[in-house]
Amino acid sequence: MSDIQNVRPQHANTISEWDLAADVVIAGYGVAGVCAAIESARAGADTLILERTGGWGGAAALSGGFIYLGGGTPLQKALGFEDTAENMEAFLLAALGPGADSAKIHDYCQGSVEHFEWLVAQGVPFKEEFWGEPGWEPPGDHGLMYSGGENAAPLNTIASPAPRGHLPQMTDKRTGERGGGYMLMKPLADTAESVGVRAEYDIRIERLIIDDDGRTVGVVAKRYGRRLTVRARRGVVLATGSFAYNQQMVATFTPRLIGRPAASIEQHDGIGIQVAQALGAQLAHMDAAEVAFFADPQVLVRGILVNGRGQRYIPEDTYPGRIGQATLNQQDNQAYLIIDEPSLEAAFATESTSAAMRRPPTWAAETVEELEAEIGLPTGALKTTIDVYNQHARQGADPLLGKKRQWVQPITTPLAAYDLRECTGGFTLGGLATDLDSRVLHVSGDPIPGLFAAGRCTSGICAGGYASGASLGDGSFYGRRAGRAAARRIAE
Ligand SMILES: Cc1cc2nc3c(=O)[nH]c(=O)nc-3n(C[C@H](O)[C@H](O)[C@H](O)COP(=O)(O)OP(=O)(O)OC[C@H]3O[C@@H](n4cnc5c(N)ncnc54)[C@H](O)[C@@H]3O)c2cc1C
Repeated sequence: MSDIQNVRPQHANTISEWDLAADVVIAGYGVAGVCAAIESARAGADTLILERTGGWGGAAALSGGFIYLGGGTPLQKALGFEDTAENMEAFLLAALGPGADSAKIHDYCQGSVEHFEWLVAQGVPFKEEFWGEPGWEPPGDHGLMYSGGENAAPLNTIASPAPRGHLPQMTDKRTGERGGGYMLMKPLADTAESVGVRAEYDIRIERLIIDDDGRTVGVVAKRYGRRLTVRARRGVVLATGSFAYNQQMVATFTPRLIGRPAASIEQHDGIGIQVAQALGAQLAHMDAAEVAFFADPQVLVRGILVNGRGQRYIPEDTYPGRIGQATLNQQDNQAYLIIDEPSLEAAFATESTSAAMRRPPTWAAETVEELEAEIGLPTGALKTTIDVYNQHARQGADPLLGKKRQWVQPITTPLAAYDLRECTGGFTLGGLATDLDSRVLHVSGDPIPGLFAAGRCTSGICAGGYASGASLGDGSFYGRRAGRAAARRIAE
């Protein structure tokens, strides 16, 4: 049996001597782990993090750093945006569904302002500057941006639009190195150290240890080929990330992501989910996935996006992650962006947030009929789409999909198209079912004694949909809950 398959719990009565011990043992030093650790240590528990790699950070430190927060945070207010917890909740229920956990969303929205203040108190900096252009992320160190399609149809009719993508301020921005995610993790890791959290690196958890009552009392881990037992006097927190790099799990639960993991790290192999499953843990939304769409939003908004039948299917000015999910899940990854010459020039004249996305179109043609033939679309399909679009665009409207007036104008000739088939990739969002105290739930619905989890090894606030920042958002929020609950050893 391979190491990864041997995830069944070990019984504590087989262990005569423990190699390491702490009140609360946390597996994984990414965003959920560090937040759990800070709160656990502050609650008076001797806290130990076990991290598989040689340092803290995880996917979180490589990330763009968006944290989805709202309800009237000081940053939103300072930048002149009105928001309430109720407004945020209405948005998230619509944007993250179908099937999103309404209790978690309510709880998350109610606690969002406090969570922002907590992050600031730990030293996470946010600059009072708003970025309002289409894009995946701002080009600089702006602190706030729309990051979920809040100001686009149809969501702008469900809740009043408010930007909620909060970004830690970075100096000398280098995405993937010193981006927003690093600027989130660095102060949190410094805080953890200052409150006495201990960390052991190059140590990889493999199994849980349970006592005769079924309570989780430790973990079996491996370091440099040697097995270690680690005792957790109060509780174990699983914070090991998603299953995006476990091919078997991806094939089983999110087959559309096969061969296209993105915004993830190889360490996300699903181990946290599997060791808890071996104790009878309940899972939720294992089919859910964030899906990035590798196209330049400045170009997207100025064109029309059509599927393999030459038909539009989503407003081009919405959150590109919504476009990614719609393209992968509903259009079999078939997408072409049609844009005319003046619009392409206008897009290229804007500040680029990702130079790699600024590339020449795949096809160019003098007429719509020619372009249609070059792409290989059924005769008349694209022509019909453009005729209908232009008919309304002349009045500055898009009654079909509700693209905002500012981006709507008739498509002229000559024109061009981008081949955006296979332009998606993503990470998994499903995982362990947990309650609002981050207790891992058994299939019976009861909490599993001594076992807590947060971050992407759990199912958080997302189900069918996603907004940038939801992952660092619920990971940090419920990481804190896990740390507090484990330290308290709350009654199960
Ligand atoms: C390029 C990029 C951009 C992103 N941008 C954003 C964004 O802007 N906003 C957003 O919300 N999300 C973003 N994400 C996603 C986000 O970073 C992750 O979803 C988030 O970090 C998950 O938090 P986590 O604590 O569960 O996992 P992580 O932060 O990855 O932490 C998990 C830790 O567990 C460790 N680990 C794994 N297995 C074991 C084991 N067996 N034993 C011990 N330790 C183990 C890992 O090494 C890792 O350090 C991005 C990700 C990437 C890569």
